[in-house]
This record gives sequence, structure tokens and C-alpha cells, in this order.
Amino acid sequence: VKKNPAEPEFHQAVKEVLESLRAVVDANEEKFRKEGLLERLVEPDRQIKFRVPWVDDNGNVQVNTGYRVQFNNAIGPYKGGLRLHPSVNLGIIKFLGFEQIFKNSLTGLPIGGGKGGSDFDPKGKSDREVLAFCTSFITELYKYIGADVDVPAGDIGTGAREIGYMYGQYKKITGSYEGVLTGKGLTFGGSLARTEATGYGLLYLTEEMLKCNGKDIKGKIVTVSGSGNVAIYAIQKAHQLGAKCVTCSDSNGWVYDPDGIDVEALKEIKEVKRERLTEYKKYRPNSEYHEGRGVWTVKCDVALPCATQNELLLEDAKVLVANGCIAVAEGANMPTTLDATEYLQKNGVMFAPGKAANAGGVATSALEMTQNSERLSWTFEEVDSKLKQIMVNIFHNLDDAAKRYNAEGNYVVGANIAGFEKVANAMLAQGIW
Ligand code: NDP
Repeated sequence: VKKNPAEPEFHQAVKEVLESLRAVVDANEEKFRKEGLLERLVEPDRQIKFRVPWVDDNGNVQVNTGYRVQFNNAIGPYKGGLRLHPSVNLGIIKFLGFEQIFKNSLTGLPIGGGKGGSDFDPKGKSDREVLAFCTSFITELYKYIGADVDVPAGDIGTGAREIGYMYGQYKKITGSYEGVLTGKGLTFGGSLARTEATGYGLLYLTEEMLKCNGKDIKGKIVTVSGSGNVAIYAIQKAHQLGAKCVTCSDSNGWVYDPDGIDVEALKEIKEVKRERLTEYKKYRPNSEYHEGRGVWTVKCDVALPCATQNELLLEDAKVLVANGCIAVAEGANMPTTLDATEYLQKNGVMFAPGKAANAGGVATSALEMTQNSERLSWTFEEVDSKLKQIMVNIFHNLDDAAKRYNAEGNYVVGANIAGFEKVANAMLAQGIW
């Protein structure tokens, strides 16, 4: 805390991981302590912070701050998204980059951990303004990234439009047509099923977790927060698997639709028209719209937080337990506070942490990298079936890791240990760096 003041989200993420690793470190005292492994693990390889000037539609110069934290490349090139949101600061990017190390390791694919972004808010900006920002952002960032170095992707506020603008500028500056960004459009190197991957992957892992605990996702009532990329495709896959998802939200309010959220209406509102959830009632007169937060007050079997960090609090966890919720799986990164996580676990709720449950996005990004290297495109079915296999494997790896260290059923501990082991061994094998 003294070394990295004012970074509470980073401290929170590190605390959770280090507490989970206690058993592993105790069992490998000599190997890890002497090598300063944990000290090296929590310090990023490098942090890049830069000015992003751009001209708005009134001809005024605006200045934002850009970040890229390259955390760890022991097992592959840095990989992780770019977040565009006014709340972005170094501590948030560091927490996300740190989590990404373990998540990427859990996928079983050769990718290291990194994250970046800016305090730029794409909401309410014209296409020209977004283009101006993205062009300026990548004009600085391009120096530090590359297909074998660091491969950024989307995150909150960064979708296909932003990735396309950034890719265009990267290509213009470098003259190189390479897989330097993932989440690209399908006509220029993007992968089928990448858009759906995080939400679909979340449901594949949740389905497997329920199955291994003697339950079936079919027929379950599901609550989802958020209404962005992760939330939309989580809802779609939940419906395909026979569950009914009855909520979604944005930063202003939330929707309850007792008949099940209409995914096509949601896509039209959020992806096509870029409007707010207040519009949803026009498509579904039976639904309710409420200002503020409240998704977790709705009775459910399975809760899927898919918006942002620290959005599921202790008081929400208490309501979920009282309402008979049996499982929580994180589509967002660190949406559940530490005390809420503990409360859910103590009360027998299956809890799948984001670094495992939302790893389908980055896994499919890694599959996009493979297709770019091969100069081939796989079919939707091919990518989707690989994604499903990866998510099922992730669940079994973390379940096994938890069992090996006497923490059966604690999937937080399992995910941290399973993600850590591969990275730690690679770091030890590569000497001191
Ligand atoms: P989007 O920008 O597509 O959507 C984010 C959603 O969350 C929007 O509905 C947004 O509402 C809401 N939201 C954002 N900030 C807040 C806030 N402070 N309070 C309440 N609601 C908020 O992002 P994604 O769906 O891509 O990302 C969602 C989460 O999933 C993030 O934690 C991200 O890091 C994580 N994730 C994403 C992956 C991906 O592939 N996209 C992969 C792995 C993790 P509004 O429209 O009002 O802003």
C-alpha cells in the first residue's frame, strides 16, 4: 500500500490472489521465497502513461490520459483489453492487468498479461470524435505493441468501431498488416464468435460448474447486470441453454422483464442505436424500468454480474442468499467485493471468479491471433466448439487445483492457484527478470 498509494482496486486484486496462494507458497517455501517470486509477480514489467490530445466537433483541443500496463510476459506476449471510461486511472488498469496474468494462464494458451485504456468517454461523442481520439491514442501506443510483443483488445467502451479505427491508424503508421489488435472486423482479420465469446464462455463455464454440482442450468432463473458486450451474449446463451434471464442494467438504471429479456431488442438499443435502457419498455410493454441499482434484489437461481468492478456488494450478497440463489459467476472483472464473495461462499453459493468465468473473451482473442498467423479464418462452429472446450477445461483445472490444496469447492482459490502455477514455473525457468 505504501509503494502504490491510491490504488485500492489493485490492492484488492492482489490481496485476493496472495491469500489464495498462501497454501502453495507454504508448500514451496524455498523455491518461491528465495527467488522473490511474489515480489516480482506484483510489480508490472512496465507502465506506460501518455498524453492523448484530439480535436472535438467544436474545434477545441481535448486532452485525455492513455495507459498501457505490460504486467507479465512469462508465458506469451502481453494480452489484455483497452478500457475507455471516465473512471479509468492507473490503479484500475493495474488491477485489470494483474488479473489478466492468471486469466490468460488459465486459458491454457500462450498469452501474458497486460491492460490499457484511457479516461476518454466514448458515450455521447460523434463518430468523428471517436476517430480523432482513437487515432491520437494509437499514434503513441503503436511504439509499444506488436503481434509478438503486446496485443491489445476491447473492453468497456472499446468495441468493434474503436478497434477498427485503431487498427487503421496502426497500419498507416507502420505499414504492417499484422495481428496487433484483436476484436477486429470480420473483413480484416477478426474471428467469428469473438463478439459472443465472453458471454457464451461465461455460460459454458457456469453450465459445467452446475453440472459438476448435480444441477442443471435448464429452467433456472438468471439475473444479469450490464447491457454491454458481455451481458448481451451471456443473456443470449443463457436462453439457448434453456434458462430464463430476467434483468439487465446500465449505469443509470435497470430493467426487469418477467418474460425474459428480449435479446434482439437489447442489441438494437445498445449495439445499433447506442441508446439507453429507458428505451427497452418501447419494445416490451410488460417490462419495468427502474432508476439506480437493484438487479440483485430480483429473486434468481443464478446471478451473473457483467457490468464493472465492485458492483455486487455485501448487502446484495445477503439478498441473493436470502432469495435462494445457488450460483454466482462473474462476467465482469472483480464485480464482487471481497466481503460479498466470502459471504456467498460461506453460505454455500457456488462462486466462479471472473478470471476463470470471463476468460472466454481473451481465449477467443488468442484464437484470433492464431488465425492471423496462419492467415486463415475458421468457421463460427469451429471457434465456438474450441471456446466451449476451453471453458470446460478451465473449470476442471480450477476444481482440481482447489482439491489438491484442500480447498474443495473454493473456485477462487482454485483459479488463482491454477493460473499461478504455470506462470510461476515459467518465471523460475527464465531466471531473474
Ligand atoms: P461494455 O462497454 O460493452 O458494457 C459495459 C456495461 O456495464 C454497460 O452496460 C455499462 O453501462 C455498464 N457499466 C459500465 N460501468 C458501469 C458503472 N460504473 N456502473 C454501472 N454500470 C456500468 O463492456 P463489456 O461488456 O465489454 O465489459 C463488461 C465487463 O466485462 C468489464 O468488467 C470488462 O472488463 C469485463 N470483460 C469484458 C470482456 C470482453 O470481451 N468484452 C472480456 C472479459 C472481461 P453504460 O452503458 O451506462 O456505460
